[in-house]
Amino acid sequence: MNQTTLANEISTTGVGLHTGVDVNLNLKPAPENTGYIFVRTDLDNFEIPASAEYISHCSYATTLMRRGVVLSTCEHLLSALRGSGVDNCFIELDNIEIPIMDGSSEDFLELIRSAGIAEQDSARRFLRVLKKVEVEQNGRLMSIEPSDRFEIECVIDFPHPFINRQSLHFVFENGSFGREIGSARTFGFTHEIEMLRKANLARGGSLDNAIVLTPDGMLNETPLRFEDEFVRHKILDIIGDFALLGMPVLGKITAEKSGHAVHAALMSKLLKTEGAWEIVK
Ligand SMILES: [Zn+2]
Repeated sequence: MNQTTLANEISTTGVGLHTGVDVNLNLKPAPENTGYIFVRTDLDNFEIPASAEYISHCSYATTLMRRGVVLSTCEHLLSALRGSGVDNCFIELDNIEIPIMDGSSEDFLELIRSAGIAEQDSARRFLRVLKKVEVEQNGRLMSIEPSDRFEIECVIDFPHPFINRQSLHFVFENGSFGREIGSARTFGFTHEIEMLRKANLARGGSLDNAIVLTPDGMLNETPLRFEDEFVRHKILDIIGDFALLGMPVLGKITAEKSGHAVHAALMSKLLKTEGAWEIVK
């Protein structure tokens, strides 16, 4: 199995969920062993590699920072790239935040599909997990352990009639991301959104790019895409954040009530734990 990149360059535009800024996004083919690199075309093509070492904060979205230059909300695009089996890609953008599109990875998947995927000459590398590593933060639990494939078992629990306890075991195999995960949208609660707005966040948020939940229902008039769309979106976020390991993973993730900060803590602990992983072809 060889590495892949995009067959063609492709562009789109959109608005940032938290900053509300307009952004032009351009995905470009990249050489073997590049991984994903963000390029701020508004700042002299400053590069920020999609790597766990550049995670700066991750409360409502995953933000990267290198030498003071920030790149926000990278997880849904990275999830689409990883989910499509693309190994190498330059991601050019002319603002601080990746556009939110419809709140899922669907538009990015469609872009990648229309650009096409090209096989390269070098063998694909995987980060293979060799022993179990786990983290716990205030009742949020997450672990990663050896497996010969990439799989995620995720449980969420929110006291809301549309959610309550949802669990799903996702196995990454040909096409499964597009069918089961890619179109699941992000979600938020009305009380949380008021708080975010006060903190000058969620400025680009609307019913076109998020499921907005009231205490006993939702504001969106269109139906849910899956009955358990919420847990599917959590899995989408996990795949996007774990793309920051720089290559596909062979391992099983178990997540209970996880969030971006827990994902970051687990990646950091995994990378620092001696003998917990190796790179294989
Ligand atoms: Zn998300």
